[in-house]
Amino acid sequence: MEQNLIYFDYAATTPVRPEAADALAEALRRFGNPSSRYACGREAARRVKEDRESVAQAMGCAPAELYFTSCGTESDNWAIRRGVEVNHRKGKHIVTTAVEHAAVLETCKDLERQGYEVTYLKPDRAGRVTVGQLTAALRPDTALVSMMLVNNETGVILPVGECVKAVKACDPAILFHCDGVQGFLKTPDPLARLGADLVAISGHKIGAPKGIGALYIKKGVRLRPLLTGGGQEEGLRSGTEATAQIAAFAAAVRANAADPGRLERAAAIKEYTLTRLKAALPGLEVISAGDAPHICAVTLPGYKSEVVVRVLGDQGVCVASGSACHRGKPSHVFAAMSLPKPWLDGALRLSFSPDSTREEADGLVRALKGAADSLFTTLS
Ligand code: PLP
Repeated sequence: MEQNLIYFDYAATTPVRPEAADALAEALRRFGNPSSRYACGREAARRVKEDRESVAQAMGCAPAELYFTSCGTESDNWAIRRGVEVNHRKGKHIVTTAVEHAAVLETCKDLERQGYEVTYLKPDRAGRVTVGQLTAALRPDTALVSMMLVNNETGVILPVGECVKAVKACDPAILFHCDGVQGFLKTPDPLARLGADLVAISGHKIGAPKGIGALYIKKGVRLRPLLTGGGQEEGLRSGTEATAQIAAFAAAVRANAADPGRLERAAAIKEYTLTRLKAALPGLEVISAGDAPHICAVTLPGYKSEVVVRVLGDQGVCVASGSACHRGKPSHVFAAMSLPKPWLDGALRLSFSPDSTREEADGLVRALKGAADSLFTTLS
């Protein structure tokens, strides 16, 4: 972590863990192509096999069900774009939620332009959608359901496991994709246990470098590749394996798995921060305390969160005004929750690491109080 930085934006990205950085550096010094038949190529292939086993173990799946990709976005695109094709005879209807990440929503919008029809389930004021809403949206021509596990802006856990059961009871042919990017290693159960056909994950949310992700494809699901070429990843994801990123991803996974107290520690520091914030800033409202241990959302009604984020940023305090992927646009997640306008304007996402400290939390509280005292609100 850079010196003097108070970082509470771990849902945007995480620092690379030392174990991952070491694995990356070590792997960069080995250059064999896993497809080459001579010794250094075979050694590279052996290591990718071991790394796949580590990630698969954390996912609760067989190594043969796990395919490395370049990021969570690629995994979501692959799952959805090729997932709808699996059921092309069934129809062109997709069900998703209005609170998905852009990697899912923009893919669905693109498919709408290609003639698909998409139902976006609207969340309630707390950011939740229900199994009943989902089953009511299913149709005979529904090809695919895509539902995230942990919302990246509220920390709300959506009822994916129950939804999978309900969808499969209604029609086992409907493919179920889950964007598990914010849930991987942040929820107690391995994600393959959700029962979904497809689950997307990403390395840089768990201490690996950016540029590595994976897609779980349940045994028996026949998904065509998104990238065609040399036939790597059992012919399903071509492109020479990113051996160093993969090594770092697996090292980060193993480091997380070796720290079983991490979820409780993240939850505890989040609770401490929320308690301190509420005490110091009586006007602050909690939008979502978050079910997942590492994310919550608050608002300073009437303030402009972009300005607050900038003022805090100038003091080395990093928080988000919604998803980092929105670059200043109001969050579609908070908007879908029908929050009052002053709440939307002042919305901030805080996200935590198990290693975030009380001193850092106190620094955040001081900085936010200072910003609220010095900035104008549209409400006064
Ligand atoms: N899905 C969710 C819920 C996310 O939070 C993110 C990243 O913020 C992604 C997908 C995209 O992952 P990546 O940055 O690896 O493309």
